[in-house]
Amino acid sequence: MISPKEDISLLEREPRFEDSFCSIQAVPKIPKIQHKETRILVSHARRFNDEVVRPLALKTDLHSFEDPEYLPWDLVKKANEWGFYTMFIPKLFGGQGWSLPSHTYVIEELSSACVGIANVIFVHYLGFMTCLASWNMPLVNRICRDVAEGERTGNPCLITLAITEPGAGTDVEEVELVDRGRVTCLAEKVKGGYIVNGSKIFISMGHVSTWHAVVAYSDLKKPSENTVILAVKTGTKGFSFGKHEDKMGQRACCASELVFEDCFIPDDCVLCDSRDFHNSPIRSTADLVNQLIHYVVEVTRASVGAFGTGVARGAYEHALKFAGETAVDGKLLINHEWAQIMLAEMYKNVIAARLAYVEANYSNSLNGGVLNFLQIKPVYYYMKFVPQTVIDLFVVPFYKTKIFNWFMRQVFVEGQSVEAQHRCSGWSSIAKFFGTDMGMKNSQMALEMMGQTGLRHDQGTEKILRDSKLLQIYEGTNQLNRLNLFNCLIARNVSQARVFEE
Ligand SMILES: Cc1cc2nc3c(=O)[nH]c(=O)nc-3n(C[C@H](O)[C@H](O)[C@H](O)COP(=O)(O)OP(=O)(O)OC[C@H]3O[C@@H](n4cnc5c(N)ncnc54)[C@H](O)[C@@H]3O)c2cc1C
Repeated sequence: MISPKEDISLLEREPRFEDSFCSIQAVPKIPKIQHKETRILVSHARRFNDEVVRPLALKTDLHSFEDPEYLPWDLVKKANEWGFYTMFIPKLFGGQGWSLPSHTYVIEELSSACVGIANVIFVHYLGFMTCLASWNMPLVNRICRDVAEGERTGNPCLITLAITEPGAGTDVEEVELVDRGRVTCLAEKVKGGYIVNGSKIFISMGHVSTWHAVVAYSDLKKPSENTVILAVKTGTKGFSFGKHEDKMGQRACCASELVFEDCFIPDDCVLCDSRDFHNSPIRSTADLVNQLIHYVVEVTRASVGAFGTGVARGAYEHALKFAGETAVDGKLLINHEWAQIMLAEMYKNVIAARLAYVEANYSNSLNGGVLNFLQIKPVYYYMKFVPQTVIDLFVVPFYKTKIFNWFMRQVFVEGQSVEAQHRCSGWSSIAKFFGTDMGMKNSQMALEMMGQTGLRHDQGTEKILRDSKLLQIYEGTNQLNRLNLFNCLIARNVSQARVFEE
């Protein structure tokens, strides 16, 4: 018998294999009580589904067709009452501080009932993640305290991310492409701040949000090296809302145009300025801006994978119910072998999609991703058990210092290794395109099984299909995410391979 040697050097020849060890590497590092936290949160989401989402999902969809001016204030108020907008904001910033990696399971749960309403809640965390990734702690603190205050007073305060422009969607998501795109949102440096001109489109929840993390450029000829991320508050002079889109699905969640006309944003509202990176001795400015954008999408693409998983599950549940209640050729559909095969396929799609976002989660939270810091056991337990007043007294003043911000950026932006970035970003792309493709696939299969019944609005199944398609487009189209996977996890092993070449 030849026994295995204590030698893993051969694995170095094929790093792809190591990349799929995220969960094995992460499990020993997970704080024990996190499992309980996740169960509590999923149960909370299930109750919210029963009491709020299911009674309102179809009504809201229909209402939005009758009244194209509909904005989801009613849903936002409900979600605010149920604590969803501060749930995953760390106690460091006055939030409830539930473990961030649990958010994907909550997303799946809500999306299984209505992905449009799930997005009314979770696109706020896309804005929050952008703020967090800047590591501009005083400004993140200011914005998050507004969110917490909004929850206390019943006046919801939400955050958006505004990056897409009328002439540039995919291009602005990738720093390698942005110099080729037609970006027009100009942020001119003036004394004490920036003057912004231009517009953003398809910004989820724009009209009903208070803070907007706006990506603009101080030089439109070379945006990759001149990116600024500004925190703009609704009501700021020179900032207004244009139309909101009359779109195919997820109609509960508005997609807004933001318009900037000589809008002055003071320096203390600059989340991140690529000039801060100009002096990095190790990496180019474009590289660091790329790192920052990937830092955000590493988390948010996994979240969209969870949206897709939830949709796949919702469609499966509709098909299962129908098959259990409907007789075909004298026996229940569920007892026909062809239906059993279809249901088994749909079930498998849900489980496999879930595994993909869970693996991405492990990578983000415990293997060098943006959530790593809060998951380190001493930090996790400190934040969990130390009362808010103590955190506010002893930690908050400390992190408002410039040196602390500099330190956080060194460790978490400049300090993230290229390997970690590639692993986290590659896995998030897998979770995103696989989860959302499965959402689409199961929606189609459910409609196939249900025949004409599935096409009726009052059944809710055709709505799942309409909602599902959008997931393949936002957070980077699924084509872009496939290219990103190739770029992050495949190209490095093939010396001649190039991605995004002109
Ligand atoms: C419902 C909804 C909500 C949204 N919410 C937000 C939001 O909150 N904030 C925000 O900033 N944006 C948001 N967006 C915008 C979204 O991120 C963009 O739609 C997305 O990035 C795609 O851009 P695009 O639609 O302009 O497509 P395009 O970039 O025009 O792409 C068109 C096609 O070309 C392909 N393509 C483009 N470039 C390449 C390339 N280099 N290689 C190969 N194929 C390529 C794409 O895959 C796609 O198939 C939202 C969009 C939707 C639909």
